[in-house]
Amino acid sequence: MTAIFDLSGRIALVTGGNGGIGLGMAKGLAACGAKLVITGRNAEKNAAAVAELGKGTLAFEADLTDPAAPQALVEKVLAATDGRLDILVNNAGTNIRKRPEEYSDEEWFAVIDTNLTSAMRLTRAAYPALKASGHGRVINIGSMLSIFGGPLHSAYGASKGAIVQYTKSLAVSWSPDGITANAILPGWIDTELTRGARRQSPALHDSVLARTPAKRWGDPSDFAGIAAFLASDAAAFVTGTAIPVDGGFSVHG
Ligand code: NDP
Repeated sequence: MTAIFDLSGRIALVTGGNGGIGLGMAKGLAACGAKLVITGRNAEKNAAAVAELGKGTLAFEADLTDPAAPQALVEKVLAATDGRLDILVNNAGTNIRKRPEEYSDEEWFAVIDTNLTSAMRLTRAAYPALKASGHGRVINIGSMLSIFGGPLHSAYGASKGAIVQYTKSLAVSWSPDGITANAILPGWIDTELTRGARRQSPALHDSVLARTPAKRWGDPSDFAGIAAFLASDAAAFVTGTAIPVDGGFSVHG
């Protein structure tokens, strides 16, 4: 493998790495040599993902909406890796598809805490290790709803817009530490999350196909390359960006 894309010896923590886009990214990082640590709430999904990612992969159960969980998770990871962490992928995410006027406080915070606050807490806890790495990487997952609005996406869109701005602040703050921070903005990808959305809104499937220039839904495997690139030395001067991976969805007028 070309040395600039080689992740041998690097340790990557991928939240929500037990399925969907997170597992797609974890596979890309592993293919370039990184050692993977994945998290999710579901032990069975964690075990299945470890089987796919191969020997040496670590998995921890954590509900990242618990305010203490991110710090505890980072401590567990560092205990298992001799204090090393090079790549943090904040991917865990959720949505509660409701109109803005129907949102309760509880639902709002469930979405914001999963998609945004947990990423802040994890990133803050990981900072000393990322700095010590000398080539720390933060990869945050936004959405098309980082750019657009949607009738059932008020909390989700707020969290996904905010995580892009958070990413920019990380990039500016931590460049002197050799840490880059970038966001990936997935288009419509076939995962558990969007299967739920399609059950709720049956017309969604065809409307996504009609609007997406690539004329297909994205697949988690579409995220292997972008994650590996952003984590690699090849992307050392790429920071503060928000990169759509959407089959052209966001540029279709
Ligand atoms: P999935 O539902 O397949 O994956 C979500 C992941 O997040 C799961 O691994 C889940 O693990 C984990 N997770 C959810 N809530 C928590 C929690 N409270 N604590 C810990 N882990 C949690 O969805 P996707 O793969 O589609 O989503 C991944 C990311 O991509 C999300 O941030 C999502 O918003 C974003 N995205 C997805 C798009 C799509 O079209 N699919 C489009 C744009 C953005 P477990 O089930 O074990 O808890």
